[in-house]
Amino acid sequence: MRFVDEYRDPAKVMALIERLHDRASQLTDYNAQRPLRIMEVCGGHTHAIFKFGLDQLLPENIEFIHGPGCPVCVLPMGRIDTCLDIARHPEVIFCTFGDAIRVPGKTGSLMDASARGADVRVVYSPMDALQLARANPQRQVVFFGLGFETTMPATAVTLQQAKADKVDNFYFFCQHITLIPTLRRLLEQPDNDIDAFLAPGHVSMVIGIERYQFIATHYQRPLVVAGFEPVDLLQGVLMLVEQKLDGQPKVENQYRRIVSDTGNTRAQEAMAQVFMLEGNAEWRGLGMIEQSGVKLTPEYQCFDAEQHFHPHSQQACDDPRARCGDVLTGRCKPHQCPLFGTTCNPQNAFGALMVSSEGACAAWYQYRSQE
Ligand code: SF4
Repeated sequence: MRFVDEYRDPAKVMALIERLHDRASQLTDYNAQRPLRIMEVCGGHTHAIFKFGLDQLLPENIEFIHGPGCPVCVLPMGRIDTCLDIARHPEVIFCTFGDAIRVPGKTGSLMDASARGADVRVVYSPMDALQLARANPQRQVVFFGLGFETTMPATAVTLQQAKADKVDNFYFFCQHITLIPTLRRLLEQPDNDIDAFLAPGHVSMVIGIERYQFIATHYQRPLVVAGFEPVDLLQGVLMLVEQKLDGQPKVENQYRRIVSDTGNTRAQEAMAQVFMLEGNAEWRGLGMIEQSGVKLTPEYQCFDAEQHFHPHSQQACDDPRARCGDVLTGRCKPHQCPLFGTTCNPQNAFGALMVSSEGACAAWYQYRSQE
């Protein structure tokens, strides 16, 4: 299959590994005790790395650390509780992506709410939820929109459609967040030891690569936007190593077959019409991050589920033993969390990183815990 087989070609992978070992041996500032630490900020990258065992093929002086690139993983417990408050209205059909249905809040998950009688449905796109609203005019349909800039355009276009069609029983619960402020927050933490970034292909497809420039110019970290196949990721790592050897941090794009420098301008226009920056947003395990949340523009606030249902807004209530924040910032590996595999496992998860299909803990559990 084009764009898959050629990027999984074992000969190409082995050639890249060989080249990587050769070039990494010249990184004299990094060794097995203090490896070059490359953070991938994308749950898709994290799972590809584990699935293909790429972390085990790296030279000993290069290490992947897994950043907050999975939007479900950073969903605060309090926001799930607010969803539950809305979903329990008898007239509501609460629509969510499958990833979020098992994320635990303080009083359970949306799946638990469904078992208790709430009408919670998994949808594959916001348009599915809008269609449900059209098909059920006597009900109130709420779409739980979450994700980075990857999923925001689809929500924006759906709301534009709902507005154009005057659908008056459709509401939107907003948990969209933006990536760039999070990268800044990670780099502002005084004890961070992130040496370089592999930036996400999907978000970059929408926002382009220009907005990453401050990472190279201000923070002096190399960054490469990379795709999701083994050849993509290894090429991305090699490009980062070459930048380190040159001593010239810059922003580069390995994923040119998908990502342009300016991104998808039509998607950006749709987002700008429907969303505006909200200011601070809470991230599970990371606390409040300035300018990282969005809300609906005045023109679209009639769709705001929180304004319509006035749910009790809930405060975060995370178990102090959980190390979700440390895993999300690369300070520890999933198996170093005291809850990993015991209190927190895929069947009975405590943290969202264990239930999301893009979560680092789920990936570690699936691909590493049997070793
Ligand atoms: Fe969080 Fe569970 Fe992972 Fe611990 S094992 S960091 S509680 S998701």
